[in-house]
Amino acid sequence: MAWPVGYFFETWAGWALFCVGLCLQMVPHFRSFARLERWSRAPVVDADLESEGAWDDVFARLYRHEKDLRGQIAERDHRNDMLIAAVQALTDGVVLLDQQNHILFCNTTAESQLGLLGRTDRGQPVVNLVRQPEFVAYLQAADFARPLNMRSERNDDRVLSIFVIPYADNRRLMQIKDVTQADLLDRMRRDFVANVSHELRTPLTVLAGFLETLLEIEVERDEQQRYLGMMSEQSARMQSIVQDLLTLSAIESAPPPEDSIVDMAKVMDKLRRDAESLSAGRHSIVIEADGHVDLRGSETELVSAFTNLVANAVRYTPAGGTVSIRWHADAQGAEFAVQDTGIGIDSRHIPRLTERFYRVDRGRSRDAGGTGLGLAIVKHSLSRHQAQLDIKSTPGIGSRFAARFPANRVAGL
Ligand code: ADP
Repeated sequence: MAWPVGYFFETWAGWALFCVGLCLQMVPHFRSFARLERWSRAPVVDADLESEGAWDDVFARLYRHEKDLRGQIAERDHRNDMLIAAVQALTDGVVLLDQQNHILFCNTTAESQLGLLGRTDRGQPVVNLVRQPEFVAYLQAADFARPLNMRSERNDDRVLSIFVIPYADNRRLMQIKDVTQADLLDRMRRDFVANVSHELRTPLTVLAGFLETLLEIEVERDEQQRYLGMMSEQSARMQSIVQDLLTLSAIESAPPPEDSIVDMAKVMDKLRRDAESLSAGRHSIVIEADGHVDLRGSETELVSAFTNLVANAVRYTPAGGTVSIRWHADAQGAEFAVQDTGIGIDSRHIPRLTERFYRVDRGRSRDAGGTGLGLAIVKHSLSRHQAQLDIKSTPGIGSRFAARFPANRVAGL
């Protein structure tokens, strides 16, 4: 239009019209540009981001690009969150350290194991927060072929095993395992082997001594008989220790006890006969039994536990005393109890009585033919039947050992 106006009318009018037209053409471009400029300051994924003409394509591409980018970032954040959640869920502690052993990250397990605070301790040298000398020396020596085992500074009962694994650019990943249970088992195993060796060594030394004497010296026949008697006593002692060890190990490795019915009337009768024969008339044996209820479980294990309790009552009760064996049931379950009027036990020993080879008076136990394994067998057999062992005792008055069975172990309630 500007050209005919300039040609037929005034040239300036043509140019003026041309300029006005150009300006009008530029308006939408300026508007789109301003919109782009505003958007670039705070890009948002906005499906309404559209414009006219060529700008519409540009905005559509920008929209798609921004949307893809946002999607990728959201997916990456989600993956990061999942990774952190997985590391947080680990039952092992995890601490990430930089080249100078500054904390980059630690999970909640590590926080509670080492007393760290993930948020505030980030960036701190780990040795400023965990100051145990063995830990500091371990990190400084930088020989991570073996883990470091140490007691927790916060809780002396816990034993921690620390593995340091170098990764990316000499950073370090510290993995902290709580090995308290394994350490305890290991200590128990070592103590057990030491105890067994000690228990067997004593009778073996006596036996070897007598044998040597008999081989080297001519002894009178009477003396020889006395020696042989003592040797036979010692070998019987070794036999009982080995027998009790075998019983314990059989119970430990056996599958859960079967559910067969154990006839308690028969068991009580056997226990009475055993007690009378062991007592040889020195004690009065009292039996009280609820004849209508029986037990469900392994007869061998239960009889072995009850026999041990009865034998102890007879062995630790001086002549003239009474041993009462009771079996009764109520709505909650049933109880087997052995009560004696014997020497009793000081309360400080009671929590340890069921430990293997624990004896209040070693000499007395040995003289009474004990192995120190009886109550360990009792506790094990009872716990396999979900029963609790309750011990009450007063020195000089007597003791009561009771096995309490839950209702589901009792037949005929
Ligand atoms: P032991 O073979 O030595 O009797 P146990 O494990 O059966 O081993 O018992 C552990 C210790 O508990 C015994 O050495 C004894 O000191 C004490 N004890 C067990 N039963 C009684 C009891 N009825 N009266 C007094 N002390 C007992």
